[in-house]
Amino acid sequence: MKRSLLIKPTMNEQYPTVSYGKGIYLYDNKGKRYIDGSSGAVTASLGHGVYEIIKSMQNQANKVSFVYRSQFTSEPAERLAEKLNKLVDADEDYWSFFVNSGSEATETAMKVAIQYWQEQGNFKKQRILSRWVSYHGITLGALSMSGHINRRERFVSLLEDYPSVTAPYCYRCSFDKTYPTCQLMCAHEVEAAIKRIGADHIAGFIAEPIIGAAGGVIVPPDGYYQKVREICDRYNILFIADEVMTGIGRTGKMFGLDHWGVKADIVALGKGMSAGFTPMAATLVSEKVMKPILEGSNSIMSGHTYSANPQSAASALAVLEYIENNNLVDKVKENGTYLLKRLKEELSNLEIIGDIRGKGLMIGVEFVSDKNIKQSFHNNGAVTNKIVKKAREKGLLIYPSSAGQDGVGGDAIIISPPFIILKEEIEELVSILMEVVSDIQKELGL
Ligand code: PLP
Repeated sequence: MKRSLLIKPTMNEQYPTVSYGKGIYLYDNKGKRYIDGSSGAVTASLGHGVYEIIKSMQNQANKVSFVYRSQFTSEPAERLAEKLNKLVDADEDYWSFFVNSGSEATETAMKVAIQYWQEQGNFKKQRILSRWVSYHGITLGALSMSGHINRRERFVSLLEDYPSVTAPYCYRCSFDKTYPTCQLMCAHEVEAAIKRIGADHIAGFIAEPIIGAAGGVIVPPDGYYQKVREICDRYNILFIADEVMTGIGRTGKMFGLDHWGVKADIVALGKGMSAGFTPMAATLVSEKVMKPILEGSNSIMSGHTYSANPQSAASALAVLEYIENNNLVDKVKENGTYLLKRLKEELSNLEIIGDIRGKGLMIGVEFVSDKNIKQSFHNNGAVTNKIVKKAREKGLLIYPSSAGQDGVGGDAIIISPPFIILKEEIEELVSILMEVVSDIQKELGL
């Protein structure tokens, strides 16, 4: 066989070659069909081959596909910024800074937060407070904010010492408490960390409204974000929401934080924003944060060649319009409730299942070696990878999620199919997953 020179995530694994996609299905070049049970990396929210989006992309490509952002603006980029501002639906305007990936969006958010204080003459507020069991991206700034042991460990000496507080992870509460008698100790820990580090050193606090890749969908208890928002305000710290995974309808609301009626000062978007049709991401910045920047250096100290390119802007705009025109956020809520119920009904009793949780079509399944004591496998995600591989063999794609933190979860998958999934397709997904998980459980002798 001819040697492949393409660097892949795992070099010794055989990857199928994709041929085409239609709806929730992907087909390889041998004709095998796969359910896209995770929308790729929680990205292809509309599924594949959506006529309206393809048409918009063709129309834009026929006009112009690229202009440089410091020479031209474009109609799709302007309209996209307006649309996002409407979707945030806040008392103040949110400006859009377009980038190409979630990592760039969170890294820009970090820089904007620092710049906000600098514009006001404060050069000490340079640190970003973040949480363990989190993932904000792979570039060094984004990785510095990420509480993801596996992805950090090779670069630790190059990273800022950012993650400070524990995650609001009720299944594995760091304080060994139960909600609501815990009185949200995890939120109060944010205040304790601010006091320890000193508010005058902290530019912002970043959090994924619902934790994704690092923990297998961790939904915080009610009241957590209201408390955290109040603490940030009290200590003059900007609140940054990393909505790269949770944003644009994925959880059954337009933004993850909408579940708790909280607004962030800066919002990072990516993934579902263009539903995989083009690389597109954004950092949304509130008027409050923009004001000193507009009155000061009048520019955000970041930018990329492909920022705000018309082709990606047109595809993202078409995605947002498609979601609105087809009431897909409501559909996510309905489909998500059904999928979560069916997963719980079918899988909960298996010995290997620790927890099944989520909101909308962002659902996590956590695996344990001993259900009674919630013992995780301590094997760096090996069991999760086995499950993901076996599922792929049986025609189901799911997303592995593991922060590699002993005793803090570590073995989970994310199930996040396209918003347009039908009930019978949900049944097919659940039935394949049930078969796969039962097989692996047997193999492990549980
Ligand atoms: N933030 C969150 C919450 C993510 O889930 C991810 C990716 O998984 C990122 C940031 C990084 O995005 P990207 O892989 O597009 O750089």
